[in-house]
Amino acid sequence: MGKHHRGFRRLEDEELARLTFLGASGEVTGSLYLLETAQARVLFDCGLCQGERHARTRNARAFPFDPAGLDAVVLTHAHVDHSGLVPKLVRDGFRGKIHCTQPSGDLLGVLLRDSAHIHEQDAKSESRRRERSGKKPVEPLYEVADAERALAKLVLHPFEREVELAPGLRIRFVRAGHILGAASVEAWVREDTFERKLVVSGDLGRRREPLLLPPEPPAEADLVLLESTYGDRDHKDLDATVAELAQALNEALQDGGNVIVPVFAVGRAQEVMHYIGLLERDGRIPELPVFLDSPMAVRATELYRRHADCFQRTASGVRCEALEPRRLELCRTPEESMRLNDRRGIVILSASGMCEGGRILHHLRHNLWRPSTDVVIVGFQARGTLGRALVGGAKNVRIFGESVAVKARIRTLGGFSAHAGQTELVEWVAPLVRSGARVALVHGEEEKRAALAAKLRERHGTEAWLPQLGDRVVLAKRGTPVAFARA
Ligand SMILES: [Zn+2]
Repeated sequence: MGKHHRGFRRLEDEELARLTFLGASGEVTGSLYLLETAQARVLFDCGLCQGERHARTRNARAFPFDPAGLDAVVLTHAHVDHSGLVPKLVRDGFRGKIHCTQPSGDLLGVLLRDSAHIHEQDAKSESRRRERSGKKPVEPLYEVADAERALAKLVLHPFEREVELAPGLRIRFVRAGHILGAASVEAWVREDTFERKLVVSGDLGRRREPLLLPPEPPAEADLVLLESTYGDRDHKDLDATVAELAQALNEALQDGGNVIVPVFAVGRAQEVMHYIGLLERDGRIPELPVFLDSPMAVRATELYRRHADCFQRTASGVRCEALEPRRLELCRTPEESMRLNDRRGIVILSASGMCEGGRILHHLRHNLWRPSTDVVIVGFQARGTLGRALVGGAKNVRIFGESVAVKARIRTLGGFSAHAGQTELVEWVAPLVRSGARVALVHGEEEKRAALAAKLRERHGTEAWLPQLGDRVVLAKRGTPVAFARA
């Protein structure tokens, strides 16, 4: 380490490693955890804050450490709430490598460029506004060029293979379901004869994933960072949810209105298309004109098709076939998107999934005020997002500065989560707890992780730690392996 860098501290003699919670601690986005050992400083995830209060300010704030002093970054998966600050990290001086799985690397190419593009556009329109009122223009959080420099630093790994990240630090990616390429990370820290193991769950998918191979829980650890997005409940039964989707589609189109489905471009879009294809194949819905209107979702769909090795196999060993609606049309250009404004009786899948940006906003503006419209919510809606307002029954919303009446029927289908529900989380972490691992709950709103903590106490008799921003945990060489400390 030698050189002094801001924000890092020397380890005490008895400390093998120290982990600091710098994001997604008591909230559901902005994953950022710093691991410091005697020989390496590594970030696990480097995500954008989204939707939360002060998200913009949080993202723009300087990192609480000097990026030039970091050795490596490990990304659990490509979602920008786990990866979207990497271009800023690179712009601010990070010179190391960024490690992830092979499919994640492909998806990052799509997601980071898109994220950079959005930040450039946001800054441009904000600057125009400011200039009109005589103020100075603003700089984007980062630019496409920064995303390109970040992508050039990617080192791609297969699942299941141990790699030496730095002296005394090995990691391995194991499948987490969730989205294409998503992994939990096992990390072993070693110094002389002392070794401790950390597991970062990343976002965990369902035990019964529609497309991907299911999560594989690691067997043992000293410390595990467990996500808690749905720590307070189980999802509705999947078959029941698919039946609800069939009913929603059948009913919605009877009055000639449109069905608007906000989808996350990566994962949910492909799953919903799969289910519509399945329902059509089984004759439970008519063949519907379905439009996938999101350039990013279109590109992600192409990557899903390319990584068929990540898909489930059936009992007979045949790979799961990703079905698609028979009358699917992919909208790439803005013109193709705008043409949908005059159509009725169609299904539009569009991003972003929480209605925070992208083409979905245009479709909501054109359709929300019509009583014949059905909006089908199939994904998690974070606090403060337009999607959450719709789910919450808002009668009026603002879109592009314009007040829009909500006359459409809003249906929420609870069973389609890409995240494990409470029982699945409790079961995933069971072998780890049995091995003696301490659990820190991250990536969940406060009441959700509190509920999960209560369930873990009841089921496993373990007291989970609920870190706040800036809290630390020390992996000790001797004695009690794990010690938590408030900031
Ligand atoms: Zn995710």
